[in-house]
Amino acid sequence: MTSTADQRVAIVTGAASGIGRATAELFAERGHHVLAVDVDERGLAELTGGQVTLVGDVATEPVNLAAVRTALDLFGRVDTLVLNAGIGGTLPLEAPGAVERADRIFGVNLRGPIHGLRAAIPALRQTRGSVVVTASVAGLRGDPGNWAYNAAKGALINLVRAFAIDHAAEGVRVNALAPGLTRTGITAGVHRDPRVLAAIERRIPLGRLAEPVEQAEAVWFLASPAAGYITGTTLVVDGGLDANLGILP
Ligand code: NAD
Repeated sequence: MTSTADQRVAIVTGAASGIGRATAELFAERGHHVLAVDVDERGLAELTGGQVTLVGDVATEPVNLAAVRTALDLFGRVDTLVLNAGIGGTLPLEAPGAVERADRIFGVNLRGPIHGLRAAIPALRQTRGSVVVTASVAGLRGDPGNWAYNAAKGALINLVRAFAIDHAAEGVRVNALAPGLTRTGITAGVHRDPRVLAAIERRIPLGRLAEPVEQAEAVWFLASPAAGYITGTTLVVDGGLDANLGILP
């Protein structure tokens, strides 16, 4: 049995639901202290595993600073930072409010992880820790009507490369996870409509959406010593979607 002082510590954002929730639960199950951050207080309250929770908007600097301060005050260290909170909801380019919505998408998906790493880097240097940022296959390619999300996630993938280079000498690894379609709140519109779901599943070589825990397992791997020589990369977990040219029916 490891003592509390030896227990590794993870901060997970967007932990009230979906991939973040599965990650916060997997890390807790495997013996980490977990600080779970989200805007959704009710969702955080449903977490199983004894995570400490913090309610707040990760697009803002104070919430990221508070997350790191809370982890240090309670547990004394930060080993793993999972910057996972994200939103979709791109509007058509000419729709009213499209640019304001894009700013919010950039704020949560891109500025959030910048604040997150900026707040945590002194602590991560101490532990030679690791960062996993949730990007998307939508950051590797465009998809219809999704320009703001495509831009945010594409920029995030290159941001991860740049941060990985800047912090490699300090022993801090930074990687991106690029999930394909995963059964979570963000894709509810897809998986609740059987016809849309069937059409999408036909395009995925493995023939189904991912479960959140399958993404969480990839986060676990990237954060683990088993991935000790991996930095600046993007791990695509998409059932073969991105490998499939998809021209033939
Ligand atoms: P989800 O909606 O189930 O979970 C996202 C969580 O982030 C929610 O709990 C939400 O409250 C929280 N959140 C949103 N904005 C926030 C903010 N400003 N501050 C703090 N928390 C905030 O969706 P998910 O699929 O689990 O999404 C997790 C990540 O995975 C996101 O970055 C998303 O873009 C990415 N992703 C999801 C899929 C998919 O198919 N589900 C595919 C590729 C990438």
